Amino acid sequence: MSSAASAAEGLDRSRTGGEVTRLDPPGGSNTTGLALTGPALTDLALARGAVDRSAYLRANDAWLAQAWADPDTRVVVAEHGRALCAIDDEQARLLFVGPGSAPAGIRFLLGVDELNTVYFGVAGPLPDAHPDGVRALPLREAGPLLSDRDAGLMTEAVALANWHETFTHCPRCGSPTDTFAAGHARRCPVDASEHFPRVDPAMIVLVTDPDDRALLARNAMWPERRVSVLAGFVEAGESAEQAVAREVQEETGITVRAVTYLGSQPWPMPQSLMLGFRAAATRTEITVDADEIAEAHWYSRADLRAAIESGALRLPPPVSIAHRIIQSWYGAELPGSWT
Ligand SMILES: [Zn+2]
Repeated sequence: MSSAASAAEGLDRSRTGGEVTRLDPPGGSNTTGLALTGPALTDLALARGAVDRSAYLRANDAWLAQAWADPDTRVVVAEHGRALCAIDDEQARLLFVGPGSAPAGIRFLLGVDELNTVYFGVAGPLPDAHPDGVRALPLREAGPLLSDRDAGLMTEAVALANWHETFTHCPRCGSPTDTFAAGHARRCPVDASEHFPRVDPAMIVLVTDPDDRALLARNAMWPERRVSVLAGFVEAGESAEQAVAREVQEETGITVRAVTYLGSQPWPMPQSLMLGFRAAATRTEITVDADEIAEAHWYSRADLRAAIESGALRLPPPVSIAHRIIQSWYGAELPGSWT
C-alpha cells in the first residue's frame, strides 16, 4: 500500500503560503514541539482552479444540450492522463477544441466560468499530429506550468477521464454501465446501481524529531539518491491520522504524536487525493521495513542543504505536495529536486 502511494507522490511540485490551521488535541495545550504557525500549503499546483463546477447543472439535460451546441463552448480532450498544451518556455496553456471538433468519447461537464463560458471534457483520443509548440503533456508536467483556470480544468478532466477509462462495468453484475449526471456518475442498466468517481485518500507526512530534524526516506522502488517524506494509502475503516501513525510505524519503526493537518492536493494518477500532515516523533530510532523503504534518516536543514547541493540527495519536484511539505519545514525555496 505505502509503496504505491509514495511512488505515486514521488512523481511530484511549490509556492509559499499563509498560516497553518492549528488543530490541538481536545483539551490539550501545545505539547507538540511543532511550529504551529509555519507556512501552510496554499496554492498547491493541482489544487487550484477558477471555474465553478456548476454541479447543479449536471441534471439539466436541456441546458447541457444547448451548451454542447454552442460553438463557444470549450472542450478539453484527455487521454491516458494527458491533454494537449501549447508550451512557451516556463508557461503552458490548455488547447481547447470546439464541440464540433471534439473526438468521440465519454463527455463530462467541467464547469462554467465567470464569463459564462462552458467547459466540457471528453475522454477520447488525442490527435496524432499537432502544431509546433504543442505537446500532449501529462498532468504532472503540465500542472505547474498552467494558469489557475487551466490547471483546475485539466486536473478535473484527467481525474474523470481516468475513471471512465477504467470503471466501465458494474461491480455488482458485470454489465457495461451508462453515464449520467453530465458524466459525473455511471448507472447499471440491469440493476440500476449508481457509481461515482473513485478517489483513494493517501496521507503524506513530514515527521520531525525533538531537534526539529526531518525524516526523509528512499522508497525501495526508487533510484539511488531520491528521498521524500513518508506516504501511504488510508485503509478501509481508518482515519487519515491513524494512517499517518500506522504507516510511519510500519515503515520506519518511529512512533508519532501531534499529527497536524497541512492541506491536500488531488493526485489523479490515477485516482489519489494526497492529505498532507506534520507529526512529531516520540520514538526516534529508525528501523526500516526493507520491503518498502530502502533507507531513512534524520536531516537537519543544514544536512539537507549540503546533501542536495553536493548531489547526494534529490527531492520530489515542486508539483508534489511532498515538495511543499518539505519546503514548509525547510523555511525557504529548496535548492533542487528530481523531475
Ligand atoms: Zn449491475
